[in-house]
Amino acid sequence: MKVPMTEYLEIDLDRELWMCRVCNHEVGPARQSYKEGLLVHARDPREIHKPILNPEWYEFTFAPDPKWVQILEYYCPGCGTLVEAEYLPPGHPPVVDMEFDIDALKRQWAGRKPLTEAELAGPDMAGLSHQHSHSRKQKAHKHGS
Ligand SMILES: [Zn+2]
Repeated sequence: MKVPMTEYLEIDLDRELWMCRVCNHEVGPARQSYKEGLLVHARDPREIHKPILNPEWYEFTFAPDPKWVQILEYYCPGCGTLVEAEYLPPGHPPVVDMEFDIDALKRQWAGRKPLTEAELAGPDMAGLSHQHSHSRKQKAHKHGS
């Protein structure tokens, strides 16, 4: 049984693995941080939040100072999907943002049916489901899975 945990990650409870929901890549053991199985790009925050003022004229430009913050982007090695991004002080280890009791999840899901596509998508609050071009189903289709 695969249980969705985020838009791009699910846990295969039978094999105790984090999986990419886009390409089914096996990210890593579900009892460890999924981030250990992803590719990391440590970004200079000035690339993402560009200076508003000319850095040659002003000390403070409204762009983040890379001595104080870096942006870590985590990508699936299988399909390149950006799975997570976080802002951290330079040198800070990746944040453990999800840690599940796998045994409790197994007990919880033992009596449940797998979620249907409609249940996974949730309610169509804005009535835009036919126009949305970034749905998981379409991405999975593009990658042939
Ligand atoms: Zn993937």
